[in-house]
Amino acid sequence: MSVDSFKKLISDEKIVCPKCDQPVRKFDKYVETIASVWDGAGDSVTEDAGAKVTLICANGSCKWEERTEYWENYLVD
Ligand SMILES: [Zn+2]
Repeated sequence: MSVDSFKKLISDEKIVCPKCDQPVRKFDKYVETIASVWDGAGDSVTEDAGAKVTLICANGSCKWEERTEYWENYLVD
């Protein structure tokens, strides 16, 4: 996922803080993790591309932030 797509998730309030249940307002240090395919001796391993990001709640007095590859856990429909 590109940083612009991620930015849109934030502005569409699709990522929710687990502490105060408000949409996460900010993020920092977005890094795409690249898909890698290794086909060595008989084995091949495919990893899905993902992204690592620091989520920052920034609602009122909530200080929640987390650096995670598993931000999809905080996605809402
Ligand atoms: Zn919060």
